Amino acid sequence: MTLSIGERAEALIAELGISSPSELDIEAIAFDSQVEVVYEKMSGCEATLVGFRDRAIATINPSGVRGRERFSVAHELGHWHLHRGRSFACRVDDPSANLASDRHFEKEADTFASHLLLPRMLFNPAVAAYGAPTFQQITRIANEFETSITATALRLVSVNTLPVIVACYDRKGKRWAIPAADIPRRWVLKDKVDEDSYTFDMLHSGKECAGLFKQPADVWFQNNDAGKYELREQCIPSFDGGALVLLYLESPMLSAGFDWNVNRRYNEHGSYVTRRSTAR
Ligand SMILES: [Zn+2]
Repeated sequence: MTLSIGERAEALIAELGISSPSELDIEAIAFDSQVEVVYEKMSGCEATLVGFRDRAIATINPSGVRGRERFSVAHELGHWHLHRGRSFACRVDDPSANLASDRHFEKEADTFASHLLLPRMLFNPAVAAYGAPTFQQITRIANEFETSITATALRLVSVNTLPVIVACYDRKGKRWAIPAADIPRRWVLKDKVDEDSYTFDMLHSGKECAGLFKQPADVWFQNNDAGKYELREQCIPSFDGGALVLLYLESPMLSAGFDWNVNRRYNEHGSYVTRRSTAR
């Protein structure tokens, strides 16, 4: 049986007998993998990994933000466990930085890092305690695990226990969006922030979004029938000047059938289907 990258990271946590978030001491975990962690000012990259035989040194650019530093250490540990024999100079200090990139090794190291710092066996119970957590509650979980809010929100998506989409928008439109795996592919997010959304109010007039609020789904989705459905929306400012958006789809959206009127179409394998090939 071959373990996935995430399972390998979680297996490492299980082997170390870690049973609470406070025991996720990333330097100690690194030490156990024979990786020494050094904090040193660098220009041009956030973290490096230099290995020699069965030992390595991970050098981390001190950012003053503990969650980001910890993610960098965990990312380099990912390279060490997954890509041994190479050296790395990484720009990443937050997983959202790699979303737009297709650099294979960087994505793998991010996957390893998010599973190492937010392993399912500790993270899922923390989430379940809140039901569908708001950003305030995600922030509490992030503080408990010493991770960034973005990394924690993205982990909420990847564990796929809730019908959630985490996205980043700015005044120009969508930067990225990640849906939980079980969200039907029929739902297509709008490219621009709708002026009826709370996110629009925050981006244009700085109005805070105090909690999760109900919205008609056509505020967020371009599907013709979206107005018949509801979702819940919350947003917070992202560290790079945009809006980090949390959307929970109500259950009718999850059982909605395929929508032939949507602009983009996917076959049952999730592949894009052109309008011409579906016309009969
Ligand atoms: Zn890297």
